[in-house]
Amino acid sequence: MTQYDYDLITIGAGSGGVRASRRAAALGKKVAIIENLRVGGTCVMRGCVPKKLLVLGSHFADDFEDALGYGWTVGEPGFDWSRLITAKEKELDRLEDVYHRILKDSGVEEIFGTGVLADAHTVEVDGKSMTAETILVCTGGWPKMPDIPGIKHAITSNEALELAQFPKRVAIVGGGYIAVEFAGIFNSFGSEVTEIIRAPQILRGFDEDARQTLAEEMKKKGIDIRAETVVEEIVKDGDGYLLKLKDGGVLDADLVMYATGRAPNTHGLGLEEAGIALDEVGAIKVDEFSKTAVDHIYAIGDVTERLNLTPVALAEAEAFANTVYRDSPTAMDYANVASAVFSQPPIGSVGLTEDQAREKADIDVYVSRFTPMKYTLSGRDEKTMMKIIVDRETGTVLGCHMVGLDAPEIIQGIAIALKCGATKDQFDATIGIHPTAAEEFVTMRDKRPAPGKD
Ligand code: NDP
Repeated sequence: MTQYDYDLITIGAGSGGVRASRRAAALGKKVAIIENLRVGGTCVMRGCVPKKLLVLGSHFADDFEDALGYGWTVGEPGFDWSRLITAKEKELDRLEDVYHRILKDSGVEEIFGTGVLADAHTVEVDGKSMTAETILVCTGGWPKMPDIPGIKHAITSNEALELAQFPKRVAIVGGGYIAVEFAGIFNSFGSEVTEIIRAPQILRGFDEDARQTLAEEMKKKGIDIRAETVVEEIVKDGDGYLLKLKDGGVLDADLVMYATGRAPNTHGLGLEEAGIALDEVGAIKVDEFSKTAVDHIYAIGDVTERLNLTPVALAEAEAFANTVYRDSPTAMDYANVASAVFSQPPIGSVGLTEDQAREKADIDVYVSRFTPMKYTLSGRDEKTMMKIIVDRETGTVLGCHMVGLDAPEIIQGIAIALKCGATKDQFDATIGIHPTAAEEFVTMRDKRPAPGKD
């Protein structure tokens, strides 16, 4: 045993922290993990998991309608928001118990409280000091909102996931993942939704065809996307709110939600005092092995603002354990990480966008748009878009994007092909599964004319 209380103290019991702690404990290390909220972190308690449950729940609205086209007679469907929220909470409680159990079974000691660094080997929790040879910071992020008058009236995704009452009119500010996902949830459950974005289009950074397709489909569903619109003030108005816009307009809503990005949780942790460098957005600066400016202190997950996705935090945790405890320095590979937006319809995406690919190579682009088979009989007016971006010289597939039913499920498989460096010829040599939407990825043959050449 060293002169320290623990081999590893992990601050933050989200996906990354729990995984790294379990791995270290499995390798015989004495580990403590400190958490001041619920074990499971953002993804399990305040993000991906509860959000996906609400997306799944809201989709039944379409499913009841679509059933008519298949001969079903569906009575007037009723919906009880509080029953859904109660069921969702029960599932989160179950998952939290699972997390407590796996930590216990792995021999990781859980400590409830806020961990603050006192020095490079010492953490204080509510006045109690403890030392460790290695410290891992994975405190995640937290929603951030602009400081405008009346912002106190707005909620974030944290509160949106546990609203006591279902709102009739919702205004959502922001055009990122969270904003479009909640616009879809509220819209499908029957709210009137206005999404206010300061940019000309939703989902900056995504492929243009994906952005445009999703925006069109959202509008068809009745979501009012107000582009290039800025909220200057939020005023309480009876039971609702007035949003005063920069262009002089006014919007009213029963609920105002801001999804204007997340900030790394680095404040008040004693990081700078311990000599840990932060970047301009307050994220912890780390090297390729997730080591901070201080030896023995590492950081992974959203607090480092590299690629804020749960599976990336898990992979960073594995790389940390290999580096520190298996004598096998491992740098995380961020290439071709697939991601999804659980909008309605959803987006799946892997590799480069068309704009990014054009910067790097001469490319060919293949795009297909079609009505999914499910909607032929139901008559739903919703299109699927699929796109493949290919390096013209090498034939390597650089990016695949899809908007439509099952896009995240389909793109997960396609991501394996991209990770293996697949070429368009290999996509074409793959026999499709018929009849599926996914087969379109191996049957697209017509290149889209290059810009300015049609
Ligand atoms: P994003 O950074 O994705 O989007 C923020 C949005 O808010 C952008 O549209 C941005 O506009 C806008 N915005 C920022 N500041 C202001 C402001 N002051 N006034 C008005 N609009 C503003 O953040 P999210 O909160 O949506 O998501 C946070 C992170 O969570 C993401 O980075 C993602 O990694 C993760 N996440 C992943 C999910 C998934 O994988 N399915 C789901 C949900 C979250 P502009 O484009 O003009 O900058």
